[in-house]
Amino acid sequence: MAEIQLRNVGKRWGTFVGVHNFDLTIADKEFLVLLGPSGCGKTTTMRMIAGLEDVSEGEIRIDDTVVNELEPKDRDVAMVFQSYALYPNMNVYENIRFPLKVRGIDPATHHDRVMQAAERVELGEFLHRKPAELSGGQRQRVALARAIVRKPKVFLMDEPLSNLDAKLRVSTRAQIKNLSHDLQATTIYVTHDQIEAMTLADRVVVMKKGVVQQVGSPTEIYDHPANTFVASFIGSPAMNLMDGEVTGGVFRAPHVEIAGINAPDGPLTLGFRAEDATVAQGSGQINAPIYTLELLGDATMISVRVGEALVSVKADKTYRAEIGDMVSLSVPTEICHLFNAEDGARLG
Ligand code: ATP
Repeated sequence: MAEIQLRNVGKRWGTFVGVHNFDLTIADKEFLVLLGPSGCGKTTTMRMIAGLEDVSEGEIRIDDTVVNELEPKDRDVAMVFQSYALYPNMNVYENIRFPLKVRGIDPATHHDRVMQAAERVELGEFLHRKPAELSGGQRQRVALARAIVRKPKVFLMDEPLSNLDAKLRVSTRAQIKNLSHDLQATTIYVTHDQIEAMTLADRVVVMKKGVVQQVGSPTEIYDHPANTFVASFIGSPAMNLMDGEVTGGVFRAPHVEIAGINAPDGPLTLGFRAEDATVAQGSGQINAPIYTLELLGDATMISVRVGEALVSVKADKTYRAEIGDMVSLSVPTEICHLFNAEDGARLG
């Protein structure tokens, strides 16, 4: 069992607030991803859970024990860092074994446990190599083996894939998901990559400037973003957002007219996802010259300018046109997300 409770947790350095009022219960065995842009407080939150950073306000509990004052080594958490943090003078075997030695675990069990962990991440043939003799992906697997060798209650992973190339990131991502499922440990994973968050998480916490913006399953966050920040952070491409005015249920912006909008008269930010709209046969809700056209292989992405915003729609892969050609886009009311024009909060 490892349920983690964060009760109004905050971190300040002088007057600067790194994390504000973080309040969440992370369920036993849950895979929770902290997602947000650089500097939003993800790492600080995780370091407070690990005990590497003091908590300025609030309480952290692991399995109902307040751990605020506990040393990192007494919290039964294992951390995997972006930088791997391996010991350069030790070979792979000794690196993986190190946590067992530090914690005084019966030496008679070490060999079996090291071998099991190494096999689990397919490092069996590299046990005698030093970190400098390994590739980036292999080093990261040593870091993973070192984290799993003592079967901790909680895994904390800080951008573990960011130093790997794109292909290796995808395969190591799958390996992490599989490991976490097998080991049944509670996992907290920090990333600024929304695709990693969406593919790995049971729940995602989206953060901005130290403040939690939304907590939810990947589907909830994708389908019902709480505000324009979340809407523009999740999805590839990000949600199209257009500033305009509603009059009598009709939303208007340059080149745009969408009827049937359920919002009072006044300014509004309207959003929709590129894959939910289509190219219209006749006239559509958006009629504008093409700004750019990208061939993606499985689709063609068309972009048009609406005021300041660039709005993208996925068309069929056979769609062909030139920059500057007029295009009509069908944006039915039911695919539209409505946000307050001032603070960006979701309406309804
Ligand atoms: P990144 O993705 O770049 O790692 P992050 O979301 O993990 O970013 P944090 O490292 O948690 O962000 O930092 C949150 C904020 O706290 C940042 O503005 C950072 O500059 C600030 N910060 C972090 N450590 C300290 C410190 N020791 N003293 C003062 N400010 C700090």
